[in-house]
Amino acid sequence: MTNRAVFLDKDGTLIEDVPYNVNPDLMRLTVGAVEGLRSLHAAGYKLIIISNQSGVARGYFPEEALLAVEERSHQLLAEMGVPLVGFYYCPHHPDGTILKYKINCSCRKPEPGLIFRAAQKHNINLAQSWFIGDILNDVEAGRRAGCKTVLINNGNETEWVLSPLRLPHYIATDLADAAHIISNHRQDVEVLSY
Ligand SMILES: [Mg+2]
Ligand SMILES: [Zn+2]
Repeated sequence: MTNRAVFLDKDGTLIEDVPYNVNPDLMRLTVGAVEGLRSLHAAGYKLIIISNQSGVARGYFPEEALLAVEERSHQLLAEMGVPLVGFYYCPHHPDGTILKYKINCSCRKPEPGLIFRAAQKHNINLAQSWFIGDILNDVEAGRRAGCKTVLINNGNETEWVLSPLRLPHYIATDLADAAHIISNHRQDVEVLSY
């Protein structure tokens, strides 16, 4: 028996974007997050955060600072009655200033490494899973992992460098809208719709 998941980008998708923030008191859920995540959880999707945290490599905060962010993420979802199944982050960046993290890794989105790691740990069927993010690097990571993708078009993507791997399956206004799209997506017409 395998599980299906919705992988969530954190900053700008689940949590209001505050650049390089690691203060749990500044973490606010985005509009539509409560309704969207409750609906996805009720539909049987495991909810897993997949986040780039290059602030570690850039020396803006130590990796341990992310423990409080992870803890607060669990708490915010628990408050809406929804479990957060996993919190995965990439601390690397090729142009980082902290040597240990200054690498070309396979886990920084658009690389799909974190998704594969989560899928293995939680026995996720990626073909039945989704990635929701607010930039095309999220879409590409999701597609490279074999998931379907929803782009939340909230203005955070500014470059729009498109390619087949960066083309979202759907575009939504917020997480509530994304959850509607996912519930209404019919696998039996998949071959016709894209
Ligand atoms: Mg984001
Ligand atoms: Zn990485």
